[in-house]
Formats: sequence, structure tokens, C-alpha cells
Amino acid sequence: MECRVCGNKELQNILSLGESPLANSFLHQKDIPNEEFYPLELCMCRNCKLLQLSHVVSPEKMFRNYLYVTSTTKTFRDHFANMAEDLTTELGLRKGALAVDIGSNDGLLLKGFQAKGLSTIGVEPATNIAMMAEQSGVETINDFFNTNAANEIIRRKGKAELITATNVFAHVNDIKTLTHNVKSLLKDNGTFVIEIQYFMDTIEQMTFDNIYHEHLSYFTLTSLNNFFNTQGMRIFHIEHVDSHGGSLRVYIQKDNGQQETKNTVHNLLDHEQKKGINDTQLYTDFAKKVNATKNTLTSEIRKIRAAGKTIAGYGAPAKSTTLLNFCGIGKNEISYIAEDNPLKTGLLTPGTHIPVVNPAMLDENTPDYILILAWNFATEILQKTMKHAEKGTRFIIPLPTPRIV
Ligand SMILES: [Zn+2]
Repeated sequence: MECRVCGNKELQNILSLGESPLANSFLHQKDIPNEEFYPLELCMCRNCKLLQLSHVVSPEKMFRNYLYVTSTTKTFRDHFANMAEDLTTELGLRKGALAVDIGSNDGLLLKGFQAKGLSTIGVEPATNIAMMAEQSGVETINDFFNTNAANEIIRRKGKAELITATNVFAHVNDIKTLTHNVKSLLKDNGTFVIEIQYFMDTIEQMTFDNIYHEHLSYFTLTSLNNFFNTQGMRIFHIEHVDSHGGSLRVYIQKDNGQQETKNTVHNLLDHEQKKGINDTQLYTDFAKKVNATKNTLTSEIRKIRAAGKTIAGYGAPAKSTTLLNFCGIGKNEISYIAEDNPLKTGLLTPGTHIPVVNPAMLDENTPDYILILAWNFATEILQKTMKHAEKGTRFIIPLPTPRIV
């Protein structure tokens, strides 16, 4: 195992979350005997400050048949509509300009660009989801964003003014080749915009359930800046956005691009220095807190179950796999999980085998407590379950500090 940015072979182990199945590998009863588990361990490179998993699972296993559909939640529909609006304005994109989205999912962001009059094309490896995008009128190449896909886009559409990759960069092992392909597809004055979960937020907000096998890298601006500097590209602006419990939107151009580097970049780099990004203590303190949070949450749940009360979950996002497996919370603790994404209902949660059901179950079989696993949609979920709250159901919010409301 070596650092995927700088090649350093001496990575420091920061946090172990045990053995975990793939976060999105929801399964049928009959498939339980074949379920696979992999170590889930976070390492740090002292040289370039990149955090990465010690074990890389093949992307073919993780992304070819994907169950995560962006349009499922209103929060994300709003997020991507706003993002299309913001980028079009901020970058002064004209009608007909080409926007390419890498990992375009069901085409939600590209639809936003279409509404602004931009020309669009997406690249999406999950066959089922690429088909959904095509059917809704978003031209999509069903592949990973490799050299072939980049060349195919140039052949069909020419070079791009804007390339976006939201929640993709952390998922890719070979980010050097990805960046090389972005450079070849991007016009010289074009902009590459990525959104990544921000590791300083993960530390501060204790959202360690964002750590799972699909996320190979955990970026700070410092590590990301170190990376792009080695690739002939330059970060010129960042924005802190609140999706996935804290993300950075990072604006990148080619070295010879015309945008001045804004203070947003210098300020955040300074801030990270002050927070101790170069000091191992920052990471070991985080690991200690993660283990303490696990102990608090599991003892609360044990108490509730010992009192004969029932608990259901709400939301089965990928991150719930990390939380449930790491804490050892399974079908003995949680009767079922209500989930809005119909691709997941009827299946069992990876590793912990809790039935995932339609939210209508909350009416038929109302629990005493609801564990909110999709905590980043807590507001949306509390609204949807208002009638149960009025009848006395209480809610367990697991992170950043486990609490009952
Ligand atoms: Zn490194």
C-alpha cells in the first residue's frame, strides 16, 4: 500500500472500523452465505497529508450495479438545481457551452445545466442508472471516466467549458489518470469543479460513518492542493457547502488558466494549519472520539431494548452500513429500516441483515423509537414522521453525539 498522491510507502494507521461489507451491497436472504467483508481502516500519509483506506476493493464490484439514485431526496434535488444555477452564473457560461458531469448518476445536475441552455453529456458506470438518465433525456456514456470515454465525448461534442465531478474524486483509485483525462477534455480556459466530503468536517462533526470502501481518499484542502500542484493544475477558489455533512466545492483550472487564486483558498489552507493538520494528534484524537461515540450509542440502544421497547431505523444510506457494522447494531436491535429508495426496499442491510421496507411500515408497525440513519436528512425525516412523533415515538440521532429527541 502506498500513498496514491505521492507514492510514500510508510502510511500511518489512524482508525480501524473493523471488517465491513460493501456499503451499498444490500442483499437477499439467499445471498447471505456469500457475503464478503473487507477491512475498513484509515491511514495517513505524513508527507502529503492524504488520508486513504488501507484496502481498495475493485471498482467493478462497487459501481457497476449501484443503488444510490441522486433524485431520491428533495435535499439533493435542491442542491443540484442550485449548483447548476451557481456555476452557470459564477463562471459566466454561455448558452450552448458544453458541461460534462463525471459520475453523472441519474442526470440530475446535467438537467439543471440543460435548463440554463448548456449542452450536456454525462459519464456513469452503473448500467441501471445510466439507463435511467438516458430515458429522462440526459445523454450518458455508460462507462467509467477513462481515456476512451474522454475521447468519445470530444468526438461527439468537442472540448468542455466545464467538467464537474461531485462525490467522485474520493471514489477513484487512480486520480492521476482521471486528472490527465480531465485535462485533455477541458478547454484551456475551462474549469474543473469537484465536490468532495471535507475531512476537517468529518473530524469536527464526527461523521465517521462517511468512511466506507467506496471512499478511497479523504481530502483536506491541504492534501488536495498538494495533489493538483503535481498535476499541472491549480485550485483557484473553494466554497464550503453542507451536503453529506460538510463538503468542499473546489474550482480548478489548468496551470495557464486566467483565474486569479482567490483568498478563499489561502484562508482555508491557513485555517487547516492552525487546526493542526500536520500534527498526528489531530487524527489520534479523532479515533478516540469515534470509539467513545460507538460506546455511547450502543449502550443507549441496549438500554432501550432491555426496557422492552422497539426501534426502527429511518434511511438506509451507504453510510448506515459503516455505523451499524462498526457498532454491532443488527436485526436483534432494529426491527426494520424505512427507506424511500424503492431500489433498496425488500432487501437486507449489508452485514447486519435488517429488513429494508417501504416507510408505510411505520404506520402498520409503529416503533417506540426511530433511529435516524440518514442524519443529513434529519429535518426532512422529522417532517415526514411528524404524526408518529405526535403519538409518542421518539428519535435517536446517532451523530455527532448520540442523542434522543
Ligand atoms: Zn502522500
